Amino acid sequence: MTATTPELIVLTDLKRNPALPDQLVPDHKLRACIQCGTCTASCPSAAYMDITPRQMWRMVNLGLEEEVLHSKTIWLCSICYQCHARCPRGIPLTETIAKLKQMAIQKRYEKYKESTQFYRAFSDVMRIYGRMREVEFMARYFLMTNPFTALGFTNMAVTMLRRGKLKPELPKLGGEGRLDKLFKRVAELEAQQ
Ligand code: SF4
Ligand code: SF4
Repeated sequence: MTATTPELIVLTDLKRNPALPDQLVPDHKLRACIQCGTCTASCPSAAYMDITPRQMWRMVNLGLEEEVLHSKTIWLCSICYQCHARCPRGIPLTETIAKLKQMAIQKRYEKYKESTQFYRAFSDVMRIYGRMREVEFMARYFLMTNPFTALGFTNMAVTMLRRGKLKPELPKLGGEGRLDKLFKRVAELEAQQ
């Protein structure tokens, strides 16, 4: 499968945020992109993305914030660091994609609601317990998106429970989460940026 060619974008018709590349990476590092395409060639998910990583970095440099935050590309990034390690300009690409995901969640962009809720459910469980609890994570995710989707996973869940691969645990109701302080500190540091 190959990546789909995006529609022609007429820049003058679009709202742009010229500061976007420098908001994401300090010292104008993102602007050093030479459009070599190494990031796309290295990316195991590129064929399934709606814009390739190379195209996305060009769009970021053009300040096309909304188009990038609405793209499927940021959510298909598996944080494998291949592009990050190979970019000839030493741009911290993987960390920057994580920042783009964070921006999309903060701005509540709903196009890929399942992806944002997946991250939200994951970080909620990590904050409360300091470790993953798969049953509660999936329960939270299905409740946030579409509870009926869970029915399609019933057989798999029963098999996993039988084989001891899933451990049902009672959810913690109220009280302080194990990583509350850490999450709070990170939020404070991010607010200062
Ligand atoms: S590998 Fe680096 S320099 Fe090359 S297109 Fe990707 S971001 Fe730009
Ligand atoms: S970090 Fe993301 S964008 Fe970069 S190569 Fe891996 S999946 Fe692709």
